[in-house]
Amino acid sequence: MRNLHYVHAIRSFALLGLMSWLVACAVNPVTGQRELGFISEREEIQLGQQHYGPMQQSEGGLFKVDPELSAYVNEVGQRLAAEADRDLPYEFVVLNNSVPNAWALPGGKIAINRGLLIEMGSEAELAAVLGHEIVHSAARHGAQNMERGMLLQGALLATAIAASSSEYAGAIVGGAAVGAQLISQRYGREAEREADYYGTRYMARAGYDPQAAVSLQETFVRLSNAREPGWLEGLFASHPPSSERVQNNRELVAELRRDGFSGGELGEERYRERLAFLAENSEAYAAFDEAHTLARQDRMDDAMREAERAIRLLPEEARFHGLRGDIFLNQSAYQEAVESYDNALMRDSEFFNYYLGRGLAHSRMGNRARAQEDLQASVNLLPTAMAMNELGNLSLAQNDRNQAKQYFQQAASAPGSIGEQATVAFVRLDMADNPGEYLRSRLTVGDQGRLLVQVVNESPVAIRSARIDVEVAVGGRTATRQLSLSSLASGQSRVLDTGVNLPAEAELSEVRGSTRVRDVRVD
Ligand SMILES: [Zn+2]
Repeated sequence: MRNLHYVHAIRSFALLGLMSWLVACAVNPVTGQRELGFISEREEIQLGQQHYGPMQQSEGGLFKVDPELSAYVNEVGQRLAAEADRDLPYEFVVLNNSVPNAWALPGGKIAINRGLLIEMGSEAELAAVLGHEIVHSAARHGAQNMERGMLLQGALLATAIAASSSEYAGAIVGGAAVGAQLISQRYGREAEREADYYGTRYMARAGYDPQAAVSLQETFVRLSNAREPGWLEGLFASHPPSSERVQNNRELVAELRRDGFSGGELGEERYRERLAFLAENSEAYAAFDEAHTLARQDRMDDAMREAERAIRLLPEEARFHGLRGDIFLNQSAYQEAVESYDNALMRDSEFFNYYLGRGLAHSRMGNRARAQEDLQASVNLLPTAMAMNELGNLSLAQNDRNQAKQYFQQAASAPGSIGEQATVAFVRLDMADNPGEYLRSRLTVGDQGRLLVQVVNESPVAIRSARIDVEVAVGGRTATRQLSLSSLASGQSRVLDTGVNLPAEAELSEVRGSTRVRDVRVD
């Protein structure tokens, strides 16, 4: 029952495989090598489009307070994409996330965190990162991982996502969980080498000085050695830096120079100008990060102090107000939480977490209609176990059992305590509809030919009472009995006496009978 929705997601991939059962042998558009593949270009693009929005949400949402920065990054990205060996609907966005990271989905959907932008020193270095990610998309590295069955399934997938860097990853349910894996997957050494090699060629062709690919890798090695917090969980988790990569890039740059690529630009001045807003507000974001760390350590008063300092420094940033709302919510200050989320939504109406937090706060205050509206809005942006579970509770309060079951079932696929809560909530409802699925019963024969019924509680919840109808035919005579069961803990079994004596010569194989469980009540 758990992980049902992961199974759904995986099944849709399997289906995707079946639909294109004719495995195509195609030339890789980037490397020129022949390879087998069953994910078509259309399917790649569709995957990217489907997961781009939810993955932006799960990784902090779009960075909106300086919209020119996103426009600039997209501009640099498109300049490189024009040189790529494959036409795809490339898109580049900046995410509001302090972890230094960048990722690519199949089909050309690319994102870079502000936490990585701030570490770089030139537009050419940005071009090196974007060029590298373009190759991951263009050379089908993500699609190849899927084709090789390298994406995890079921419980392994849930665990891997829970352990990934995203703040919200553990709570993602449904098909979006697959997207989380697509962006956190590790590529093989060969794929990384290809991404460096062709990415650097693209940047040279686009008029950038390829030397920046070397200086970028040197920066990465330096940061990796310094073990800066955030780096290991971010880019380096999927792109481990090494002196070998620096050396490879050096050799490639020499090769490109021999091929006549010289005089490319670095764009240091322009990069500094475009990054000025982020650089000037680095103290505000540092306070925000600090508030986050404190909140995770459950030091809520200190966290609030840092969140409010961030707001004073940069009141336009919606995320700061959102974090303040999260802290109020944690402290059960619901009205204050709602006001903070209002302030966040006024500045950015497209981040799921503000709706989720406000919905939870409304629900706690008993404002069911408003809670439902907000939670639904959050789920539309990113389906989370937290929202699904609460929507289930709200449906239950309105006696809509079927709707509640659907929500709980979705939330049950998440790992951790919310998933467990939702599983129990689902089972309690489903037990009434399908009692025999949870309370197994079978006929057995005891001493002196006494007919018995063995009952096992296979559900995760304790059963208070149930009835078991027994019908049994022995030697042409039919007997029916109604047995009562009381308090049976999860995983326990009990033997009930039917009171029916079998004739001495009867074997159990000659006894025709059935048991049916009904009227199950749980604690
Ligand atoms: Zn890579």
